[in-house]
Amino acid sequence: MLTSPDDLRLLVPAAAASLLLVALVVILLRRRRSERSYVARLLDREERLKLALWATGERYWDYDVASGKLHRLSTDTQTRNHAVDMTEDVIDGVDLVHPDDLPMVRQRLDAYLAGQTGNFLAEARIADGQGDWIWVRARGRAVARDADGRILHIAGTALNITGTRAAERELRISSEVLRSMNEAVAVIDRNFDFVSVNPAFLRMTGYDEGDVIGRNASLLDSLQHDAAFYQHIRDQIRKRGRWNGEIWQRRKDGEEFLCQIESSTVYDKNGELILYVTVLNDITQQKRAEQELRYLANFDTLTNLPNRSLLSERLSRAIVRAHREDNRIAVLFLDLDRFKDVNDSLGHAAGDRILRAAAARLQQTVGMHHTVARLGGDEFTVVLENLDSPEDADRVAREIIMAFEAPLLLDDRREIAISPSIGISLYPDHAHVPTELLKQADTAMYQAKAAGRRTFMRYDDAMDVAVRQRATISGALRKVLDRGELRLVFQPRLALSKARITGVEALLRWHSDEHGEIPPVDFIPMAEESGLILEIGEWVLREACLTLQRWRQHGLDHLTVSVNVSVLQLLRGDFPDVVNRVLTDIDLPPSALELELTESVLMANAEHTAAKLQAFRALGVSLAIDDFGTGYSSLAYLKRLPITTIKIDKAFIGDLTHDPEDAAITSTVITMAHSLGLNVVAEGVETDAQLRFLASQHCDEVQGFWLSPPLDAHACLAFIRNWRPVAQGSAAPSLATP
Ligand code: C2E
Ligand code: MG
Ligand code: MG
Repeated sequence: MLTSPDDLRLLVPAAAASLLLVALVVILLRRRRSERSYVARLLDREERLKLALWATGERYWDYDVASGKLHRLSTDTQTRNHAVDMTEDVIDGVDLVHPDDLPMVRQRLDAYLAGQTGNFLAEARIADGQGDWIWVRARGRAVARDADGRILHIAGTALNITGTRAAERELRISSEVLRSMNEAVAVIDRNFDFVSVNPAFLRMTGYDEGDVIGRNASLLDSLQHDAAFYQHIRDQIRKRGRWNGEIWQRRKDGEEFLCQIESSTVYDKNGELILYVTVLNDITQQKRAEQELRYLANFDTLTNLPNRSLLSERLSRAIVRAHREDNRIAVLFLDLDRFKDVNDSLGHAAGDRILRAAAARLQQTVGMHHTVARLGGDEFTVVLENLDSPEDADRVAREIIMAFEAPLLLDDRREIAISPSIGISLYPDHAHVPTELLKQADTAMYQAKAAGRRTFMRYDDAMDVAVRQRATISGALRKVLDRGELRLVFQPRLALSKARITGVEALLRWHSDEHGEIPPVDFIPMAEESGLILEIGEWVLREACLTLQRWRQHGLDHLTVSVNVSVLQLLRGDFPDVVNRVLTDIDLPPSALELELTESVLMANAEHTAAKLQAFRALGVSLAIDDFGTGYSSLAYLKRLPITTIKIDKAFIGDLTHDPEDAAITSTVITMAHSLGLNVVAEGVETDAQLRFLASQHCDEVQGFWLSPPLDAHACLAFIRNWRPVAQGSAAPSLATP
């Protein structure tokens, strides 16, 4: 045990030394320990930084302003473990940035260095090291400054935003597409409330965005469908996820429009319904255009009646029904009499009005339940179904003809009377197919025309023969002039007051080698149809003038000749020139010639024909209205035309002595014509009684079998030379005292 002071003296330094040693050890140990925890902490922080960078996908960078060197750290974002690898490199900042983006990056950097911005922020493309460019968003701040506060060093992070930018771009593009789309697009939620709509939608519906967002899609429901219909569609969308079709919708102003709708569903990642997207197209116009086309294909636009194609369709169906129900159908084929003349003389606008008025009259007469169609021109067809007997068809045809007795109203001032000729064919009696039925009704119609117009005929087999004959006759007509088959006959005209034959009417005759004698009422319409009448008419004119000239050379120089003129001659060609040439060639005074024009030719179109007629009057040629009374022109109207003579139609003269009405008409016509200074000729005078009546009414001239039938030139010359009033039997006394 150490108790002495020496002992103690010895002991103290040793203890101090060992204490020191312990302290040293402790200190060393402590320092070692604290050094170890510092490193550990350091390592820990770096690990956290790595993890943070790995987790956020960001990169660390710092930039040395003076050298322009960029130092960067990045983690391998592909690995999913925590042992994140870090790569570290130092490169020239300039090399990294895409040349296009470099000026912008520089400008941002300069602004930050100049203290204009609180931090550095830029989005730019940088090289990814594998030869591609990636978009990054880099942000950073100063981490070191010099004594003057100038920035030396900037550090920050950078994030790869390539994916986000693409997504943003896509979103921008799709919203732009939606905005500029012509189709209206509406996004609707599961309750069918509007979530968003594009401008086209607003344009289409007339609503403002504020009007629709949050409102139910039923806002657009129209009255064209009931609520159940719309409900059904919404159920379909709910059930199937999509629907497309056409529905009527309603705009804000109440106007309804036809909409082509295409609805589909947008689901989220879990397959849960998010929204419905509906594309709407207004197809009202398109539908209207389609309907118009369909209409054009099936209806006649002038009269709005079905056309030939719809008629055949309806007729086919009617035949099927009639066959099934053992019924009878009639096809009525209708043609307006002398429509061509009227159309040529009144002009096509008036012609169109006549056709429209005729169509309306026809439909009105047969009723809406029967098909009335227009086949073109002035041809109409009526289909009558469920007929009890063929006579039912006759009855309707008669009703139609009666209905056309009243004139058609053209406009406020003008009316026109036009009659139809009707042909009838019957199913199953005559044919079983539409084309045949139509053909037969057409044939029958031609027979009705031949029978004097304003009448109807039922088809029979003999008619086919007549039609064939007609075709061959019309063929033969073409050669008529070359073959010299035409000749003229002359019918004398007697002036009652003078008891003297003052003129003759030249009437055309055709004796065909093949077909025999063909009456002018049959072949003149054919010659008009083919245009041959122009050539034939000129031949008639020249022949008539030549004959008269011969007669005049025989001393009958007071005689005049009347020549019938067809509407075609008057309207086409330079007819006044033709007349002038013929008269000059033959050296016949114009006063010796009278032209006869039928009433229908002159009817109503005074302005047009008046000029032509004036040209004849200027030549000195007389003008007569033939068949007066058969048309509907009034005497007062004729006053406007430069005519000289009126020939009262034989239809009135024939019944003169039996029918008080005809007698009244005739005497009125004579009185009025005289008051207008016109010469009056009665045509078709056959009896003494007629003659006496006409004489008592101061009719100027008579023509007819009472005096003489039409005669060959030489026979007529002889007749005129030999005619004496006393030789005319019982009529002679009355002639002396008219
Ligand atoms: P229209 O000009 O009225 O001629 C009178 C017609 O009545 C002639 O018939 C004549 O033969 C007939 N007739 C004369 N007197 C009597 C009578 O007392 N009783 C009866 N029932 N009839 C009588 P036609 O020769 O058959 O001529 C018929 C029509 O053919 C003419 O009617 C005329 O419109 C036309 N026509 C005749 N020749 C020509 C011609 O050269 N050119 C033109 N464009 N038409 C002509
Ligand atoms: Mg005549
Ligand atoms: Mg006549």
